[in-house]
Amino acid sequence: MSAFVQTVTGNVPVESIQIADGHEHVWINPADGISADARIELNDFQRIRQELKSFRQAGGTLLVDCQPGGAGRDTRQLRRLSQETGVLITATTGVHQRKYYPPDSWQWRANTDEAARYFIRELTEGTQESMGEQVENAASEPVPAAVIKIGYEGTIEGQTQVLMKAAAIASRQTGASILFHTEMGRNIEALLPFFETHGVSPTRLYMCHVDKRPDVGLHRELAQAGVLLGYDTFGRPKYDPDHNVWRLIPALVADGLAHSIAICLDFAFPSQWRSFGGEPGLTFLQSHILPRLTEIGLDVAAIKRLTAQNVTERLAWNQ
Ligand SMILES: [Zn+2]
Repeated sequence: MSAFVQTVTGNVPVESIQIADGHEHVWINPADGISADARIELNDFQRIRQELKSFRQAGGTLLVDCQPGGAGRDTRQLRRLSQETGVLITATTGVHQRKYYPPDSWQWRANTDEAARYFIRELTEGTQESMGEQVENAASEPVPAAVIKIGYEGTIEGQTQVLMKAAAIASRQTGASILFHTEMGRNIEALLPFFETHGVSPTRLYMCHVDKRPDVGLHRELAQAGVLLGYDTFGRPKYDPDHNVWRLIPALVADGLAHSIAICLDFAFPSQWRSFGGEPGLTFLQSHILPRLTEIGLDVAAIKRLTAQNVTERLAWNQ
C-alpha cells in the first residue's frame, strides 16, 4: 500500500514528490505583542506567489512549511498559494519557541491533554484558522497539518516538557512525525531517550538546523538510530558550509546513512527571497545544491533521498 503525504491541498503519494525543501517558511504574519527581534514578516501574497512559481518552474515539488499555529501561520493562505502555483505545501501543528507568541498565549498554559487534543485535531480534522471564518478568496475547507513541531532550546523542562509529552501522545495516536527546531543542535542527544521513554520511535523524529553543530560522530549515532537530520546552512556563509555541511554529507553517505538527511533552505526572511529583492531565493536548491550533490559524488538514488524521499517518507503517516 502506498504511503501518502497530507498536503494543504490533499493527499499525495510519496513517490510523486521529486524535489522537496524539507524546512521552509512560506507565510508568516507575526502575532501582535511579540518582541521586535522575533517579528518576521513574510506575508506579501503576490511576491510569495511569484517565488513559488519560480520554484515550481525549476522542478520544485514540495515545501514543508514549519510555522505552527499562533506563531504567524495561516494555512488558508498556504492552501491558496499552493492552488495558484502548483507547489505542494505541508502545514505544521505543534509549537515554536516561546518568543514567537504573545505573553497570554494558551499554548504556554495548556496541560498535556489539552495540547495533545489540539495537535491531534489539527492533524486529523484541520488547523484552527481553517476551521473558523475564511479570509477573502482563500480556502473554504479545513486544511490539516502533516507534522508536529516543537521549538527546543536545549532543555526538556517546564512547559516545553509538557508540550513534548503532548507531541508524543499525538504522534503515537496518529503516526505523525515530530519536527524539532533546535538551537544549533544544542543538546539534541537528550531528545532520543526522552521520546523513547514516551513511546515514540526515533524514526518519527526529525531534528532541524543540526548542521550548525557539525559533529560527525553525533550525527552518525542519531542517523543510525533512525533520526532524520535536517541540514540548512547551504546558503549561510557565516556557518562556513564548505567546511561543515559539505563535509557532513559525504561522511554520512559513505557510512550508508543517505536515508537520514533532509536538505532544507529555511528561508524565513524576505531578504532571502528573490521576489522581495533578496538572495539567493528558493531556487538555490535546484541551481546550487543539486549540482553540488552530483559534484561530490552522490548517485541519483542518494540525491533523490536527500532532496525528496527522506522527508516525504517521514511526513507520511495516514496510510
Ligand atoms: Zn525554520
